[in-house]
Amino acid sequence: MTATDPAKAASRPVPVSIDPSIAPPGTRNFRDAGGIPADQWHADQNGETLVPTHCCFCGVQCGMYLRVDKGGKVFGVEPRNHDINRMRLCPKGINAYQQVNHPDRLTAPLMRRSRDEEFKECSWDEALDFTVSEIRRIQEAHGNDAFGLLGGASLFSEKTYLVGKFARVALKTKHVDYNGRLCMVSAAGANKLAFGIDRAGNPFSDILLTDCLLIAGSNVGECFPVMTQYLWGARDRGASLIVVDPRETAIARTADIHVALKPGTDSAFFNAVLNVVIAEGLTDEAYIAAHTTGWDEVKKTVAEYPPSRSAEICGVPASQIVQVARVFAGAGKAMAWHARGIEHHSQGVENCLSVINLCVATGHIGKPGAGYGTITGQGNGQGGREHGQKSDMLPGGRSITNPEHRKQICQIWGIEESELPTAGTSMMEMVWQMQRKEIRGLIGICNNPFVSLPNYAVVKDGYDTAEFHAQFDFFLSETAANAHVVFPVTTWAEDEGVMANAEARVVKHNKAQEPPAGVRTDTWVICELARRLGAGKHFDFPGSREVFEELRVASAGTVNDYYGITYDRLDETGGIAWPCPSTEHPGTPRLFEDGRTYHPDGKIHMQVVEWHLPMDAYTEEFPLSLTTGRTVAHFLSGNQTRRLGALVEQTPRPWVEVHPSHGFRNGEPVRVVTRRGSEVFPALVTEAIRPDTVFIPYHWPVPTSANALTIDALDPRSKIPEYKVCAARIEAAERVDE
Ligand code: SF4
Repeated sequence: MTATDPAKAASRPVPVSIDPSIAPPGTRNFRDAGGIPADQWHADQNGETLVPTHCCFCGVQCGMYLRVDKGGKVFGVEPRNHDINRMRLCPKGINAYQQVNHPDRLTAPLMRRSRDEEFKECSWDEALDFTVSEIRRIQEAHGNDAFGLLGGASLFSEKTYLVGKFARVALKTKHVDYNGRLCMVSAAGANKLAFGIDRAGNPFSDILLTDCLLIAGSNVGECFPVMTQYLWGARDRGASLIVVDPRETAIARTADIHVALKPGTDSAFFNAVLNVVIAEGLTDEAYIAAHTTGWDEVKKTVAEYPPSRSAEICGVPASQIVQVARVFAGAGKAMAWHARGIEHHSQGVENCLSVINLCVATGHIGKPGAGYGTITGQGNGQGGREHGQKSDMLPGGRSITNPEHRKQICQIWGIEESELPTAGTSMMEMVWQMQRKEIRGLIGICNNPFVSLPNYAVVKDGYDTAEFHAQFDFFLSETAANAHVVFPVTTWAEDEGVMANAEARVVKHNKAQEPPAGVRTDTWVICELARRLGAGKHFDFPGSREVFEELRVASAGTVNDYYGITYDRLDETGGIAWPCPSTEHPGTPRLFEDGRTYHPDGKIHMQVVEWHLPMDAYTEEFPLSLTTGRTVAHFLSGNQTRRLGALVEQTPRPWVEVHPSHGFRNGEPVRVVTRRGSEVFPALVTEAIRPDTVFIPYHWPVPTSANALTIDALDPRSKIPEYKVCAARIEAAERVDE
């Protein structure tokens, strides 16, 4: 799609206007009341400088100050009155700075020629030359696609752009993907199908305006803690709260309606809610007629999901389904936000679409206080999937299989279209390909699949089968410890760059200290590898600023338009939501205000959703559902948080949550068995979980790794793994695994 495309230009939503007196925090211009422009940072009388930046962890992207001593070292954190978080930080955010000068930091490249050898510290030249010689050896013998690259969604967007470009232009391989594949891709797939744009429709501040908030599959209080302030704000105004979650999480405990459904039954539930909405005449027929396609087919399908049938599938009372329909559809303004709880499924895209269908059919879309949002997990979960490190995408959300999109990017990159590889496979599929020796070499950047991918035995086997593996990290993660080469790279506080938070608000992270001697930025390492591979002229980037300038141009005229966003504007405003097509444009915090989407016809494409059973069959041997998730003290694979004292003290190890009906006492060893294996955890006995479900938090490696037990079944469209439900049994054991 080009900037001059009249259909697309006509479909751009008009900028939203929110009266700040009604809706602080989160106003249109995202004013940073406590921010200091970069050129005005100065030390106080003690020599301390406060560097305004954002948290490195989750998709809320709270503003914070890093405290820098007169020697130039980060030594603390202070709250910042950024309007995302208004001085608030969660335990992870408060402790994030401790990573920067942590004694576990890697400060020299590590190398070994065989996994039987111990790592030895080596020079950068040795590590880079060995890596390049292995890339050449593997690609000359087995073809370019025999080498792969896996990126990450905690990287700044500039680095994610470089990952995609490096794979296609320097490695010339189709095999590039990223760990956002384990995070947001079901929501992304649903958003694109329904709206033609992949992002949340509303800013956080709209939550403050809603009359009814539906949270599906999101433990907001622990996983997106500072977002909770918006929920409380809505509650203060009298908004209803509906939580759909198999567990009674802290937020569920405060809800008006908690739907504790059986894992893996979400779309059956939402189809039944829509069934009731239709039966009771609560649809917004005028909105549907004016702005949608596909409604008749959706209506026909949800007719097959009466509350009585879905109540049986979901294990909840039919009366509760009716109640949810009446409260949500009957509200003046209602919003739905969801996260991994409904997305981590072999029917993850369908689950998200079933929520979208409900919002659209009730007309709760594209209005102040009414709409639909997806809560991103990683800090750059949104931005990390926009600019080309996903196997099927090019920068600006372009498709790598679209001839026009390919032509546009080849012009920007200065390569022939025949040189641009086509679509590759997803992260888990690449591991399977490593097992089959179709991919024989791999570089991993900012990810830790040994903890984060499902079915650990398969993952370990895939990586062990690879002939060469290099990993970028600042701590020796479980995955890095299995590599041939480890490149020691910067933390977020030692470089600058942008991330897009769960609202699609692009925020700027600022450099607070110089990296330790021996450490390089990911940008430097990627560009240096490219130079040694003979592609240096395409990677002449001294730093993030220069990459961002190319990214802006590469996104211009696309749906994911960053052209109008500059570092200076981000410093001035505290954040700008894309699309932002010109430097005068205020950004687009709220989508669909004029009822038009980003599909060429401007309509919302409602999609038929049919529920199906999870992939791992329940049997007498495996009668329970195992579901997994996060805790407030740790982040994803735990590589960053399992080293930080206060967080480890708060949550030192994983456990298994079981219902009292199983007869265990708190702390007793409980063996959890699935078709992938078994592990023993201390019991946390609680009535906050269904009797047919057990829960394990997943931040730890084997032998206490939830992901040694989870199934590597994928959603056929998004290719997200089915982390949130697999068949299991529990039994008494002698001692817990340590
Ligand atoms: S809520 Fe998220 S962004 Fe905010 S401090 Fe906590 S981890 Fe960081």
